[in-house]
Amino acid sequence: MTQVKRGKGFLNTPGPTNVPDRVLNAMHTPAVDLNDPRLLDTVASCFEDMRTVFRTREGRIFMYITNGHGAWEAALVNVLSPGDKLLVPETGNFSAGWRDVAAAYGAEIEEIPNDWRKAIQPSQIAERLAADKDKKIKAVLLVHTDTAVGITADVKAVREAMDKVGHPALLMVDTIASLGTVDFRMDDWGVDVAVAASQKGLMMPPGLGFVAAGPRAIEAHRKATAPRRYWDWGARLEPESYRRFCGTAPEHHMFGMRAALDMLLEEGLENAFRRHQMLADATRAAIEVWSKANVLSFNAVNPAERSNGVTTILVADGYDGAAIREVAREVFQTGLGGGLGKLQGKAFRIGHMGDMNEPMLLGALSAVEASLSYLDIPYERGGVDAAIRSIAASRKRMDQASSPITLVKPGAKPAA
Ligand SMILES: *Cc1c(COP(=O)(O)O)cnc(C)c1O
Repeated sequence: MTQVKRGKGFLNTPGPTNVPDRVLNAMHTPAVDLNDPRLLDTVASCFEDMRTVFRTREGRIFMYITNGHGAWEAALVNVLSPGDKLLVPETGNFSAGWRDVAAAYGAEIEEIPNDWRKAIQPSQIAERLAADKDKKIKAVLLVHTDTAVGITADVKAVREAMDKVGHPALLMVDTIASLGTVDFRMDDWGVDVAVAASQKGLMMPPGLGFVAAGPRAIEAHRKATAPRRYWDWGARLEPESYRRFCGTAPEHHMFGMRAALDMLLEEGLENAFRRHQMLADATRAAIEVWSKANVLSFNAVNPAERSNGVTTILVADGYDGAAIREVAREVFQTGLGGGLGKLQGKAFRIGHMGDMNEPMLLGALSAVEASLSYLDIPYERGGVDAAIRSIAASRKRMDQASSPITLVKPGAKPAA
C-alpha cells in the first residue's frame, strides 16, 4: 500500500525550481493564432525585458525552445568554426558539459584543470591567453555559477584579466544558474555571449533557452562556419515572430514568461539578489552547525565563493549522500539535488533559487535535518535554529534599510 501524503511538498533542486502559481495560471490559456496581437506583444516585450535581465543595451536576444544544453549549443554554433580553439576553465560538472558540446562540433579544447572546491583564478586564464602568442584561442567558456559545486566565478575579474593581456578572445558565459539570483552585467563586464535557461532563477518551467549576443559576437557570427540551421541567428534577427523562433512560437511558455518577468521586475533585480543572499546565508548557517559532527561539510572551501543559488554539501566516506536525497524526497516530500560527476553519491545539494521565501527555505532545511536524523547520520543539532536566527536578522536588516513594516501591537484597539 502506498503512503498517502498530505500538504505541499518542497522543491529545492537547483533547477528546475518552483514555478509560481501566477506563471502557471498565465500558461493556462487556449492557444491563439500566430498573428494574434496579444501573442505578438507578449513575445516582443519578453525579448525586450530579457535585455534588462541580462543588463545589456547593445546585446541581441535569442530564444529557443530548448533547455540549457540547447542554449549552450546555440551559443557555440553561431560563433565557431570547426577547428577553432577554445579555452575552458574547469569549474565543475557544467564546464565539462559545455566543453563536450564544443568538442562535438570540432572545436579544439584547451582546458584549465581546477579543483572543484575553489573558484577558478582569473590569473590562470590570463596566463594561458598570454601564452597564446598567435591568438589562436577564439573564446573563453566560463560558467558563472557551477551548480554542481555551488561556486560562483568572478566574471568581471576574468574580463579584466583578459583585457590586461590584450587577448581578443570572446568571453562566453553560462549564466543558466546565476541569472536572476546574483548580479550579472553583460555590458559593464564585457561579456560577449551569455547563455541562460528558463527553469532556474527565472522562475519558469523548463523548456526555454536564451542567448544574449554582444556586437563582437554578432560580428563573429558572420564568419563562423559551424553547421547550423535551427540555432542560426541569421533569420532569428528578423523582427517577425515566426522567424525569431524558427517556426511556431512556444505560446504558452511565452505567456508564462511574461508573468515571470513581471514578477522579477516588480520585485526588482537588486531585491531578488538580496533575497537570494538572505536564503543562502541561512542555508550556510544551518550547514555550519550540522558540519560540527564532521560528517557533512561545505564543498566550496572559500566562503566568499559560495553560490547564493545552491549549496553543495559533501558527505564523509562511509555515509551515503544519495540516501539523504532519497529520504528527503520520499519521506519528507522535499526535492534536493544529488552529487554530480565525480561527486555522485558523495554529496547532495540544496537549491535556494527562484521563487522561494523564508518559510519555504526553513521548511526544506528542516526536512534535511529530519532526513539526517532518520538515517542516523551524525550532525550537530541546532542547524535549523541557526538558519531561523540568520533569516530573521537578515530580514530585519533589509526591512530597516527599505520599508519598515508596521506591526499591529498586541492588544491594540482597532481603529474606529
Ligand atoms: C542546469 C544547468 C545547465 C544545464 O541546463 P539543462 O536545462 O539541464 O540542459 C547548464 N549549466 C548550468 C550552470 C546549470 O546550472
